[in-house]
Amino acid sequence: MLRDIANVLISEERIRDRVHAIGADLAGEFSRIEEDESSLVLMPVMTGAMVFAADLIRQLPFKLKLELVAVSSYPGKSMASKGAMMASDLPKDLEGKHVLIIDDILDSGSTIAVLKSLIEEQNPASVKVCVLLEKIRKDGPPIAKADYVGFEIPDEFVVGYGLDYDGYYRNHPEIVTLHEDAL
Ligand code: 5GP
Ligand code: MG
Repeated sequence: MLRDIANVLISEERIRDRVHAIGADLAGEFSRIEEDESSLVLMPVMTGAMVFAADLIRQLPFKLKLELVAVSSYPGKSMASKGAMMASDLPKDLEGKHVLIIDDILDSGSTIAVLKSLIEEQNPASVKVCVLLEKIRKDGPPIAKADYVGFEIPDEFVVGYGLDYDGYYRNHPEIVTLHEDAL
C-alpha cells in the first residue's frame, strides 16, 4: 500500500490538531442551542466520513444521536462524481432537530445539496454541514457550502482517513495522492 502513495498532502498530526479545533468549535455552537440537547442529530455520510466522524463525535459531550446515511456518487474506480443519489433511507423524524451533516470532502457539492434539500423537507430546526476537506475546483465553486471545513486542498484525487479508491486506502491515516500506476 505505501508504495502506491505519491504525495502526503496532510499528515496525521495536522489532521488530529484540526479535528480537535473543529470539535471545539462545534461544541461551542451546540452548547448555545437553548433547547434540549437531545435534539442534536449527527449525520455522517457513509462510507467516506466514518473515520472523521469517529474522531469528531468523541469530542462532543452531548446527548446526541448518530444517523448514518449513504449517498452514492463515485461508484467503483471512477474518480469524478457521476451526480449524487441517496443510497439509503433518510431518518423520518428530523422535524425540530438540529442536524449536522458530516462528510469527508466537498467537491462539486452535489452530495451535500441533495442531502440538505431532503432534510429540509422535514422542517428541522437547523441543518449545518461539516466536511474534513474542500477541493478548490478548477471548474468553479461548489453548488453547496459547508459551515465547517477542515482543510482546503487542490483539485486532485485524494485517499486516506476514510477516503477510498475502488474501496481501498480508507484505513491510511494521512490524506495522500496516489501514483498513476496505482489508479
Ligand atoms: P460531490 O458530491 O461534492 O462532488 O462529491 C463528494 C463526494 O465525492 C465525497 O463524499 C466523496 O465520497 C467523493 N469524492 C470527491 N472528491 C474525492 C477525492 O478526491 N477522493 C475520494 N476518494 N473521494 C472523493
Ligand atoms: Mg462520499
